[in-house]
Amino acid sequence: MAWVTAAFALLLAMPAAAAVIELTPGVGELALSPHVTYLHDTEATHSVDDAWRQLEAGGFAPLPGGNPAFGFQSGAFWVHAKVVNRNADEPRWLMVQTYPLSDHLDVYLRYPDGRIDHQVGGDTLPFSERAIRYRHPNFLLDLPTGQPVDILFRVQSQSSMQVPLVLYTPGAFTELSRDAQFAIGLYYGILLALFFYNLVLWLVLRDASYFWYLFHISAFGLVLFCLNGLGFEYLWPDNIWLADKSVPLSISLALIGMHQFARVFLGLGDRWPAGNRVSIVAIAAFVGFGIAAVFVPYRLITPAVSLAVLASIVWITIVSVAAVRKKYAPAKLFLLSWAMFLAGTAIYTLVAFGVIPKNFFTEYGVQLGSALEMLFLSVALSYRYASLRNENERIVGEANIQLERKVAQRTRELRSTLDKLGEAHSRLRESSRRDGLTGLYNRSHFHDAFERLLVSCNEDRRPLSLLMVDLDLFKSINDEHGHLVGDDVLRTSARRIGQALRPYDALLARFGGEEFVIVLPGTDLREAVAVAEEVRRAISSAPCESQHGPDVRVSGSVGIHTVVPGTIDDIEDALQVADQALYAAKANGRNCVRTSISAA
Ligand code: GH3
Ligand code: MG
Ligand code: MG
Repeated sequence: MAWVTAAFALLLAMPAAAAVIELTPGVGELALSPHVTYLHDTEATHSVDDAWRQLEAGGFAPLPGGNPAFGFQSGAFWVHAKVVNRNADEPRWLMVQTYPLSDHLDVYLRYPDGRIDHQVGGDTLPFSERAIRYRHPNFLLDLPTGQPVDILFRVQSQSSMQVPLVLYTPGAFTELSRDAQFAIGLYYGILLALFFYNLVLWLVLRDASYFWYLFHISAFGLVLFCLNGLGFEYLWPDNIWLADKSVPLSISLALIGMHQFARVFLGLGDRWPAGNRVSIVAIAAFVGFGIAAVFVPYRLITPAVSLAVLASIVWITIVSVAAVRKKYAPAKLFLLSWAMFLAGTAIYTLVAFGVIPKNFFTEYGVQLGSALEMLFLSVALSYRYASLRNENERIVGEANIQLERKVAQRTRELRSTLDKLGEAHSRLRESSRRDGLTGLYNRSHFHDAFERLLVSCNEDRRPLSLLMVDLDLFKSINDEHGHLVGDDVLRTSARRIGQALRPYDALLARFGGEEFVIVLPGTDLREAVAVAEEVRRAISSAPCESQHGPDVRVSGSVGIHTVVPGTIDDIEDALQVADQALYAAKANGRNCVRTSISAA
């Protein structure tokens, strides 16, 4: 197997075969990278003659892996290719360096007759110096048919060292630049549309996250504008200083916007205070980078900024995942948007460091990813706004329900208090109408009730009978057995009278002392006499029991006055007439019934 290893070693050590690149008819575009050899002039001290000598001495090597990006390197890079033009129709070719940020570019063409043509380029020269007004540096090459021409290309730059050289016929270049400009126009068109759409939303809604979205999208658009060489072409074609500083400056601005947007959108302050502090530190760092970019050389600041971009990619992924894990629904859309942007940015950064090769997708990956990201973020913003509004509505709804519940509860409490108060009031009123000893109505209530009955019977043209009942010789019961026995006799008599009146619609009250009064509405004299007899019999029906002394017999006398409808009768007059009848009963020997008529 040793010979295999030896063969490989030989292959690697061999000076690059100076293969001649044939530009045959029908080929309009040719990438030189797979065919070129290079030399790293680490001190940037070689003159062009030194370079030619090194080339002859086999000091040039093929590009490692055919990749024309070397990353951030000091010194200068020399690149060589030998071409022979076989296409008689295309004597002039355009060589484009498809990376816009290189500082100094030199092209040396050596013709078979020894003539040397020297052209210069790069963004340290005003934009107008370019062969064609195009965002990438370019050189017009005279390639006479059939003549092998050596192309020696030198690049020296503070930015990433890249030599992606492509040869075009003028016709092919026109088509390509048309497509590229269309794609770029489309991209910035989308960005502008999203910008104005969200600008209007921000002006209407005044939600801070819209502002930071606008900030981010503007700064990011500017980054790409610079990276694609469009800033130099359109915004500051004569400002070499700004062309140099614009990339780290705009990247710093974009990252300030990015961190701030993530912070506000995800509500880190509430959801994750520690993470929020880290984001604030990151923002401060990019403010620092932005200021440093003005003073520190590009070569030093840009790798640092690029590393900080990579760290930010990781960090924003962490915070958005954290927000998703904290069940914040809008964070999912946010994460999806970032994933697209992050992939694009990561690819671009890796290209700048020379880790992955440059092609259409890696070069435009950032545009592709970021256009999708901006679009999704815009959707995420509306989603977030809608979910905030729904949350607000839910909270207001719940508060209303709770309020209604509280009001209902308070109303119930109030009602039950009012009911209790009403009951207490009616109990109080009832007790104010009652006599404490017998429980019968008292004299003042009797007056009111009697007056009402008088009026209503008069209106209905019905008779009304009034009965005055007085216990006989009650004083002697008191005198003989004491007041307590007298009280018991009063209570028992009151109960008996009440029982006797139960079948009738009667008003019974204690009139005072041992006197009772009864009103029988709708009752004529004859019926009243019968009721009075029943009452009288009830009083003396049995001896009255007492805990305080012996059982005592008692009787009562009754005086009746019947008020006939139509005769206007005053209460006091009626009572007096009834009292006279009672007096007559007393005079008649007591324990009997007398009417006002019989009394008269
Ligand atoms: P007459 O048959 O003529 O009615 O004789 P009398 O003794 O019943 O009449 P009188 O008016 O002389 O006496 C009534 C007595 O009733 C006088 C009073 O001490 C007594 N009395 C009045 N109220 C009460 C009471 O609430 N309790 C007790 N124990 N006695 C009372
Ligand atoms: Mg009396
Ligand atoms: Mg009496």
